[in-house]
Amino acid sequence: MRTNALTLLSSFLALIVLSSVLHAQGPPKETGPFREPDLVELIKLDKKIRLDIRYASANNFLGRPVYTEARAFLQRPAAEALVRANKSLRKQGFGLVIHDGYRPWSVTKVFWDATPEDKKQFVADPAQGSKHNRGCAVDLSIFNLKSGKVVEMPSAYDEMSERSHINYTGGTDEARRLRDMLRAAMEAEGFAVYEPEWWHYDYKDWKEYPILNTSFAEIGTAGKKTKLAR
Ligand SMILES: [Zn+2]
Repeated sequence: MRTNALTLLSSFLALIVLSSVLHAQGPPKETGPFREPDLVELIKLDKKIRLDIRYASANNFLGRPVYTEARAFLQRPAAEALVRANKSLRKQGFGLVIHDGYRPWSVTKVFWDATPEDKKQFVADPAQGSKHNRGCAVDLSIFNLKSGKVVEMPSAYDEMSERSHINYTGGTDEARRLRDMLRAAMEAEGFAVYEPEWWHYDYKDWKEYPILNTSFAEIGTAGKKTKLAR
């Protein structure tokens, strides 16, 4: 009897552990309420926005592509605010270059698993999800309109070092001036910088949108289906 009870108890415990592991593998459960997602492709709103989608190439911290398509999306109000930021920067002689926008949750999980413990502040915990997963975060830099060249910032994009901090005081005066100019243009349109990364900005409404795991290829088709159903 006693052995049977122990066997039963250990199977029960094993089941609890297994279900929590399975649960941890999917996006976190959220209650909302949320706005209806409305991801729009940035270049469809503003053709002048330049793309350099590093995660669609091997030129990223993983050294391999994680996106099959080099595209960038944000929720509509964030995308419209970004277009306004681009217009204001262009008046100053610079244009936005986008490295990443909306990011499916499964990609956040890949980043987390590939990052060593001491660098985890540079990646979002998949158990919490990322503001990129909500379509409300964007990674970007600027290029000079005259030369067409991407400007030099105090650190490289996705560099996991103190040089990436928005308050880093090293590097050249010009690099810091441009970093701060980008920040001012973004803040004027409702974006807040993530302090350890000068290139990462969160749109003010991020809490209004759920964590999504839709692939880029599915975004247009899901929109069509939603519209047809109404
Ligand atoms: Zn980011």
